[in-house]
Amino acid sequence: MQIIRSVGELADYVAMQRRHHHAIGFVPTMGALHAGHISLVERAVRDNEVTIVSVFVNPTQFNNPSDLATYPRKEEEDFRMLAGAGVSAVFAPAVEEMYPSGTSRDHEYKLGSAAEVMEGKYRPGHFQGVAQVVHRLFDLVRPDRAYFGEKDFQQIAVIRNMVESEHVDVEIIACPIRRAADGLALSSRNALLSEEQRRRAPGIYAALCESVDYSQSHTVQETHDMVVERINNIPEMRVEYYEIVDGRTLMPISEWGESDFAVGCITVYNGDVRLIDNIRYK
Ligand code: AMP
Repeated sequence: MQIIRSVGELADYVAMQRRHHHAIGFVPTMGALHAGHISLVERAVRDNEVTIVSVFVNPTQFNNPSDLATYPRKEEEDFRMLAGAGVSAVFAPAVEEMYPSGTSRDHEYKLGSAAEVMEGKYRPGHFQGVAQVVHRLFDLVRPDRAYFGEKDFQQIAVIRNMVESEHVDVEIIACPIRRAADGLALSSRNALLSEEQRRRAPGIYAALCESVDYSQSHTVQETHDMVVERINNIPEMRVEYYEIVDGRTLMPISEWGESDFAVGCITVYNGDVRLIDNIRYK
């Protein structure tokens, strides 16, 4: 596996793959890798002749400086996992390499109404930062296919909108959420949980699963309220938002009949650690 630090080296590597007509799969990550990331990588390795993974904690998508400062980093272990999964090259640039003229944003991406709700509302500027880094990475890697996890359900919709508005020629592939045996969605941030917090964290997915049965005989509002109440009753947990939305538009629904693809998207503070998850109702 080649470890690439500079934009120039990456351009050379990509040009060489293109000359050989190799299909390129790409998985953007912020590192601190776990089995969820690796499931995306394995899919990319299966589908493409060459798989490139980026490991870059992108400062422009953090609206909270302490979240950026505490974000877990473990590069050597990441590289070992990626090499073991059959990755061809990892791109792990310094911040100055990605943003040579600074991290301020000079371009407003058209991300549609999908970027205004939920994470868009609670993390102002977050999706503009995500669009900025992913667009720049797509420009450098020029992948045939790019892989994203459904754990960040809203992010996939926003990336699709960016790809459309910027006319990027890439296939976006959504991959299912990987969970720990106790149901907790795998996340780099789980490493920040105390033992107690980690022990209670599966309560989030348990409430979501319970709500799927509950939704059969209750309204959208009742189902919403049940989830929020269950989780807020767990010590140290506070639901930031729970929204039941149409999975395509990400607009909230008020009746089950309004959508044939209803998804519940949740964000919970477990102590100071912000966790997200989602569940499909239909
Ligand atoms: P991150 O490093 O958190 O930016 O995540 C990089 C990619 O991995 C994103 O497309 C995430 O949606 C995906 N991902 C993170 N956690 C999981 C998970 N538990 N299951 C599947 N994909 C995931």
